[in-house]
Amino acid sequence: MSTLSEQQLYDLDRKHVWHPYAALNSDAPMFAVDSAQGVRLKLKDGRELIDGMSSWWSTLHGYNHPELNKALVEQSQRMAHVMFGGLTHEPAVKLAKQLVDISPAPLEHVFFSDSGSVAVEVAMKMAIQYWASRGQQRSRFLTFKRGYHGDTFMAMSVCDPVTGMHSLFSDAIQQQLFAEAPRLRIDDIWHDSESSELKQLLHKHHRELAGVIVEPIVQGTGGMFFYHANYLSTLRELCDNYDLPLIFDEIATGLGRTGKLFACEHAALAPDIMCLGKTLSAGYITLAATLCSSNIAMQIQDGPASVFMHGPTFMANPLACAVAGRSIELLHENNWQQQVQSIELALKKGLAPCKTLEAVADVRVLGAIGVVEMKETVDLRRLQPIFVEHGIWLRPFGKLVYCMPPYISTDDDLSKLCNALYLSLEKVYCAS
Ligand code: PMP
Repeated sequence: MSTLSEQQLYDLDRKHVWHPYAALNSDAPMFAVDSAQGVRLKLKDGRELIDGMSSWWSTLHGYNHPELNKALVEQSQRMAHVMFGGLTHEPAVKLAKQLVDISPAPLEHVFFSDSGSVAVEVAMKMAIQYWASRGQQRSRFLTFKRGYHGDTFMAMSVCDPVTGMHSLFSDAIQQQLFAEAPRLRIDDIWHDSESSELKQLLHKHHRELAGVIVEPIVQGTGGMFFYHANYLSTLRELCDNYDLPLIFDEIATGLGRTGKLFACEHAALAPDIMCLGKTLSAGYITLAATLCSSNIAMQIQDGPASVFMHGPTFMANPLACAVAGRSIELLHENNWQQQVQSIELALKKGLAPCKTLEAVADVRVLGAIGVVEMKETVDLRRLQPIFVEHGIWLRPFGKLVYCMPPYISTDDDLSKLCNALYLSLEKVYCAS
């Protein structure tokens, strides 16, 4: 097929292509991207946008990175893919070792899969098989309300029961146990009363649970809320007492985004099972990983199946693993901590003026995540084109206008991003 004109592209897109959480043939604004470089997206009409979304948390080193391109090309000249059953390869083994080295002890074993949602399925299956091998059938999980863990069925079952698609699929998804979402913010003073509900729920239900699954520190899609680390210490203590696998979904937070390499480090503790995705392959090729402790892995091994029952076709895809391995090296070479710290400072400064807008309910920043919470649900159709007019790419949802820029963003990029965000909100909300 020859190159499409801009109009042909939009027409064919409307006719044939589904987009995330969207209607077919929708008249919502759509923007065609032609290329991307560093922190900038170049649209087909020639306009350049500073990317504030890192393509949904993934492109931490920016687009078209020479080192990542090199890793991808070199690997493609060896082999783009090979099945992982009965075969292994260096990109996967090296990446697994890197992940074990950087992740908190006791995470020792790595299961590669293709997407964050599948990494969550795998984590939940691990917990279920852990119990099966101890002779018990357990498949229920405790989680927080306002969580988000993906779009596959088990992952959906632990998403927020109200906003998380449960009503549409209620007959098809498992009923989980929900605790109230954390209320205290990461920098609030802790009150022990905050742990009482978790204590009661686990005291009452622990015998029927296969495990506990939460997003540590940042509840993402469920509200972009940064919560107190003591909720995690409480869960860790209770899971230890009741011998329940504790699963942390670090798909959005992992690899530095919150200012710690893993968000669980804010609470100085580790889960038994941890999910990684998004950032893992730096926005190049879809890849996810579920890590677990030897305790979990050995128990599964001793069980009736003796093997772990999952094995996707594209497991440990060599291209994705090669890029992911180089991306982790780059994190260290680029001094990611310094990068994230300067983004945090720039976002705190740059987003502060938004607090003066009447329509804004709250502004908060953690690491390289900035959130402007509006009082009312934003009108995406109206706001999105205005962001684009101002030269930035942001994709708000609900009441949240938020950004998580690539770690390579400069002070200048960030000040343009924040300034344009403010001006766009001012244009929409302060127009007379
Ligand atoms: N868990 C969390 C915390 C996420 O933010 C996401 C992605 N939005 C997922 C799981 C699912 O990942 P994916 O979209 O790659 O399936």
